[in-house]
Amino acid sequence: MKIVIFGPPGSGKGTYASLLKNRLGIPHISSGDLVREEIRKETNLGKEIEKYSDAGELVPNEVIAEILKKRLTQDLSRGFILEGYPRTIEQAKQLDNVAKIDVVINLNVPDRVIVERLSTRVQCKSCGSIYNERTLKPRIVGKCDKCGGELFKRADDQPKVILERLKIYKETSTPVIDYYRMRKLLRDITNDNTDVSPESVTDRIMKLL
Ligand SMILES: [Zn+2]
Repeated sequence: MKIVIFGPPGSGKGTYASLLKNRLGIPHISSGDLVREEIRKETNLGKEIEKYSDAGELVPNEVIAEILKKRLTQDLSRGFILEGYPRTIEQAKQLDNVAKIDVVINLNVPDRVIVERLSTRVQCKSCGSIYNERTLKPRIVGKCDKCGGELFKRADDQPKVILERLKIYKETSTPVIDYYRMRKLLRDITNDNTDVSPESVTDRIMKLL
């Protein structure tokens, strides 16, 4: 099954994707992880990405699309859970050229819940794993369970910045949501409570597949 998990920053999509990976036994593909990996391996694409980020510019669609294409074609028979992509209608159309998506999980989370969750979010400096000081605590405070790396709070996880990111998300995501809804691939799931465990949200997602 080829699944896209879609939702605003802070909706928990990375966490759910990783739980779904364990339950379904198919890979979790995060566009952010793929980009970090290309940079770490110092591939040609990785070097190109670094040029853009060093200059403070957004990485162009075509570059991200190429990285994704490379990765997704390895998993076309098994299926995958794709997270962090597509973000725009252009990317959604590009994705259609690479893989036939079976279902798009659309996470609906109110702004106040996202602000609360993001302001308690911490991330591993080394491997990018996400934790939450309230709902998804690491075993040792400040240390990554997976690699022992140092956990930090992202500078853009502050309420004012979060609300600005959510505004941008709403603008770019609406056409993507409409695109998948029209093709009857969209499954909505609402989570308006910060205290719900990621496991129980994943239970609900499983029922929609
Ligand atoms: Zn780590």
